[in-house]
Amino acid sequence: MNKRILVTGGAGFLGSYLCEELLKNGNYVICCDNFYTGNEDNLEKIIDNKDFEVLKHDITLPLFLEVDEIFNFACPASPVHYQNDPVQTIKTCVHGAINMLGLAKRTNAKIIQASTSEIYGDPELHPQNESYKGSVSINGPRACYDEGKRCAETIFWDYHRQHKVNIKVIRIFNTYGPRMQLNDGRVVSNFIIQALTNKDITIYGDGEQTRSFCYVTDLINGTILMMNKKNLIGPINLGNPVETSVKNLANEVLEITGSKAKLIFKKLPQDDPKQRCPDITLAKNQINWSPSVNRIDGLKKTIEYFEKILKKQQK
Ligand code: UDP
Repeated sequence: MNKRILVTGGAGFLGSYLCEELLKNGNYVICCDNFYTGNEDNLEKIIDNKDFEVLKHDITLPLFLEVDEIFNFACPASPVHYQNDPVQTIKTCVHGAINMLGLAKRTNAKIIQASTSEIYGDPELHPQNESYKGSVSINGPRACYDEGKRCAETIFWDYHRQHKVNIKVIRIFNTYGPRMQLNDGRVVSNFIIQALTNKDITIYGDGEQTRSFCYVTDLINGTILMMNKKNLIGPINLGNPVETSVKNLANEVLEITGSKAKLIFKKLPQDDPKQRCPDITLAKNQINWSPSVNRIDGLKKTIEYFEKILKKQQK
């Protein structure tokens, strides 16, 4: 049966892939975006689809629609972008959650929250499983996002317990792939663009900090599996459990691109987590999900994408 599905942040990096996949599955999709970090180019493939519509709207304000499902993905996710307007970031997390849960309550829709590994902060437990409560700075520069997303999870649970809203929560770890913006500022896109344009590769700190990078299509598959799984609220971690240091990532990008760009070391930003790696046992057991794209293949596809975008820009 066709469902009417709302994707907030639908013109963003992850949201646009979600809209595409949900349309492929025969649904009617409403993309809601304020276009702060979302981009119309991301919707190129689906903009003319008769089962697709775009609403320019900010979820910090209420929204009145009739829907069966909501994917709440609106929020800038790159530290550069979410720290650029921290008040708006926390409003998007908190007011956005309240507005979308209100909509879910009124329409009896199922709603999934895009939460994040950032809720674990600079973790003392490694790898991070879902029962770890996290180590987050309350008032540091990342708090608008980390605490905002933590508060959103709390609000989701309260709407579930108090109003019986059908909720789901995924915690998304670092994800990369085509459609990241040129000015995104996160490590994968920064390193690729720097390598392709022969600019210095900017490593923050000594580069020994770790992350685990999930290719975008894997993340989207996991998200949809979770949405469709009956009787499972989560939270569940979605991410690639293969961990690497930032310095190693830089060397891989240099090797694949054949670039002669130099590594330079810059100051580590405040509260930058030293290590991050998801424990995905729950996702494996409960929704039979694990990532299938390895980092080198994913990087190659992402590099191809940025090569095209940079060429287009030069024309
Ligand atoms: N980073 C870096 N150089 C860059 C951008 C980021 O060394 O040009 C580091 C950053 O300090 C962090 C890691 O790469 O340790 C991942 O950063 P990103 O902004 O991608 O995401 P985060 O996981 O910190 O939210």
